[in-house]
Amino acid sequence: MSEEITLVFDEPPQRKKAPQHIADLDSEARKEWAKAAGYQGFRASQIANHYFSHVGAPAGEWSDIPADQREELSALFTPKLIELVRSISCDNGMTRKDLWRLHDGVLVESVLMRYTDRTTVCISSQAGCGMNCPFCATGQAGLTRNLTAGEITEQIVAAARSCELGEMTGGPTRLSNIVFMGMGEPLANYNAVLQTLRNVTAPNPDGLGISARSVTVSTVGLVNGIEKLTAEDIPVTLAVSLHTPDDELRNTLVPINSRWKVKEVLAAADAYERKTGRRYSIEYALIRDINDQAWRADLLGRLLKNRNSHVNLIPLNPTPGSKWTASRREDEAEFVRVLESYGVPVTVRDTRGREIDGACGQLAAAESAQQ
Ligand code: SAH
Repeated sequence: MSEEITLVFDEPPQRKKAPQHIADLDSEARKEWAKAAGYQGFRASQIANHYFSHVGAPAGEWSDIPADQREELSALFTPKLIELVRSISCDNGMTRKDLWRLHDGVLVESVLMRYTDRTTVCISSQAGCGMNCPFCATGQAGLTRNLTAGEITEQIVAAARSCELGEMTGGPTRLSNIVFMGMGEPLANYNAVLQTLRNVTAPNPDGLGISARSVTVSTVGLVNGIEKLTAEDIPVTLAVSLHTPDDELRNTLVPINSRWKVKEVLAAADAYERKTGRRYSIEYALIRDINDQAWRADLLGRLLKNRNSHVNLIPLNPTPGSKWTASRREDEAEFVRVLESYGVPVTVRDTRGREIDGACGQLAAAESAQQ
C-alpha cells in the first residue's frame, strides 16, 4: 500500500471522544459497564430494551426502573449524542432531511423517505469523507472524523422514533430500511459500522430487530472491507459505487480505484454474493458526456451479464461549482437499453428530495435496490 493511500485512511486527531453509549457495546459489555458503574447487570438489558424496542423512549417512561434512578441511568448509558439543528421536508412530507450536531460541533445529515410499502433512512457513517470522489459534495471537504457506533445508531433510532410518532405524512409507521448512503465511506469506519449493523439486526431487547436484508451498505469498493464483511454473519445488501466499468476513468471518478481495480472490486462483491446469497447493487451516477456513452454501457453489460447484480443508475445531482451535470434523457434511455440487452437488471433512481439537497449532493443518491 502506498504512503498516499495510507494517508487516506488516517483519521485526523480526534478532539474529544463522544461520550460512551450502550449502542457502542455488545450486550455482554453493556452488562459489564452497568456493573462497573455500580448497578445491577440486568439494568443494561432494561435500558437497551427502552432504547431499541421502544425506540428511544424518554427516561420518564422507564417504568421497570425505580423513578429516582431513571434520569441518572439515562444520562450515563444513553447520553444524547446527536442534537437536531434543522429539519427540511419535501415531497409532501414524505421526505425529510435532518441536520444533526454532534458533541464536538461536527454536523452530519440523515434523510428519512417514506414510500407506499416501506420507510427508509439514509444515514451518515463519517463526518466528511476521505475518498475524494470529484462529483460528490461530501468528498470535497475531506474527512473530519469517524462517527462512533452510538452516533450512527442514534440517527437510526431517531428515525424510527419519528416514524412511530407519526411525524411523516401518512401517520405512524415503522422504520423498515436503512441505507448507508449519507456522508462517509462506511467500510473505512468498519468497527463502528459493524456494531451499528449488530444494533440494527439483533432482536429486541439487544437491538432493533430489523432484518439484515433491509439494510444496504454502500461502498466505493474497499476490497479489504468487503472481505471482512463477507466473513461476518450479517447478510446486508451490498452496494458498490462503480460509476464506470473501465479503470482509466474510474481512477478519476473514484480515486481509491488506484488501489483496488474494477475487477478486484467485482470479485470481492461476487464472493460476498456467494457467501450471503444476496444480489448486490452497482451504483452508477450518470454524468453527461463523462461516463454515459453507449460503449461504456456495452462494457458494463459484458462485465455484469453473468453476475448476480443489479444496476442502479442515479442521475447526477450536480454539486455547487461543478461543471458536471446529469445525462441527457436520450443517453440515459440508451444506457438502460444496452444494459437490458445483456439481461442485466437495471433501474433508474427516482431521486428523492432533490430540492432539499443543496448542501450535500450525495444524500440525493439515497435508496438502493430494495424494489
Ligand atoms: N461512500 C459510500 C456511501 C455514500 S455515497 C459510497 O461511495 O458508496 C452514496 C452514493 O451516492 C454513492 O454511490 C455515491 O457515489 C453517490 N453520489 C455521491 N455524490 C453524488 C452526486 N452528486 N450525484 C449522484 N450520486 C452521487
